[in-house]
Amino acid sequence: MLVLLVQIVYNCFMPQKYCHFNGKITTPDKVKINPYDLGFLRGHGVFDVMSTVNGKPFLLDEHWKRFQNSAKMLGLKIPVSGGEYEKIVRKLLKSNGLKKSTIRTILTGGISLNGSTYCQNETFIIFIEKFHGLSEEVYAKGARVVTHDHERHIPTAKVCNYAEAIRHQGKKEKAGALEIIYVKNGKALEASTSNFFIVKNGKLITVKEGILIGTTRNSVIRLARKAGYKIEERDIKIKELHSADEVFLTATNKDVVPVIKIDGKKVGDGKVGKNTKVLMELFRKFTLEY
Ligand code: PMP
Repeated sequence: MLVLLVQIVYNCFMPQKYCHFNGKITTPDKVKINPYDLGFLRGHGVFDVMSTVNGKPFLLDEHWKRFQNSAKMLGLKIPVSGGEYEKIVRKLLKSNGLKKSTIRTILTGGISLNGSTYCQNETFIIFIEKFHGLSEEVYAKGARVVTHDHERHIPTAKVCNYAEAIRHQGKKEKAGALEIIYVKNGKALEASTSNFFIVKNGKLITVKEGILIGTTRNSVIRLARKAGYKIEERDIKIKELHSADEVFLTATNKDVVPVIKIDGKKVGDGKVGKNTKVLMELFRKFTLEY
């Protein structure tokens, strides 16, 4: 009886059905991570998060390249080729039958015989869940963000260590903020799970180095260039962030989100910026036609 109850509750909260675990298709409840896994014990792992658009994996090649780069930076070997990865993802999407999905891909150093040495025994998981987007209100009214002094470890890789973001969840919630923008040595870097752009005198500026290069960021740059915007990819001073005319975030699970307050102070006139609205619309069209 208890087992049945647990299963029902589990199915309600975890509606995903199939995942890929070390070469096999299985279900998440059957995935067993060994406590000697270096991802679990030492944070030795990387991941990537992709979504679907119109039932198709969105920007798959770009995500795969970034995942390859992240793995390389941690000295990890991915056990499948790009072609095999795509096949697995498409198979999982088909069998899970969700309208819109989030696809998580994780690679860790795997089981270590002594709990600290890498034994080239990678753990590789792909799991799919129902996509949970932001509310319409966030896009219509804009979001708040807070800044926080931090730089991620190996910032150009998507390393499985988001402890700083989770540790400061309370700070974010207290401020009613959607995101934390990391700042370091006078520069604004990236948000905890997003990139950001500032708009100054009609020009778009976004960070290029020492951050995770977002797939959404790259699409926005391409779309904006096509639409005739001038774009600068360079370091951004904290002062520039605070004196921007407009600020917006970009990320897979967010698309383009206007920012109207930073650390409680208004961005521009405190309303969703006109250029931000143009880019939100361009991105929306891009996904509709994908
Ligand atoms: N920076 C960080 C630290 C992130 O975790 C993410 C989310 N993957 C991004 C930027 C945005 O990347 P993307 O647009 O590919 O989702």
